[in-house]
Amino acid sequence: MNDVSQLLESHGIRPTQQRVKVAQVLLATPTHMTADQLLAALKQSPSRVSKATVYNTLKLFVDHGLARQIHLDPERCVYDSTMSPHHHFQNVETGEMIDIRPDDLSFDKLPPLPSGTEIDSVDVVIRVRPPKA
Ligand SMILES: [Zn+2]
Repeated sequence: MNDVSQLLESHGIRPTQQRVKVAQVLLATPTHMTADQLLAALKQSPSRVSKATVYNTLKLFVDHGLARQIHLDPERCVYDSTMSPHHHFQNVETGEMIDIRPDDLSFDKLPPLPSGTEIDSVDVVIRVRPPKA
């Protein structure tokens, strides 16, 4: 896919065949995927991409502003292909992340910032689970 190659190049990444494969899965649509989900999706395709390559490529995408890394807990993180500011629901049973549009959440009050700082970004995760019976 040419679009993906151009996207990589516009972010200063040389579009190798394997990077393009990873980008086609992760960056083609707004999505949240763990590295393992990405690997599983790539295994469906005929050309092999190694686990190390997937991890290296994900780091490259994050470093170059193509994806965001969101830590679910110390062991797990998901990669988010939506770079514009937004918030999330997280299903604590499945780990699934669902986007919340920034307009759908507002803050009445924020704490005073530590001196000598300004806000870089505000990310809210609302954790949800199936109702207890
Ligand atoms: Zn998201």
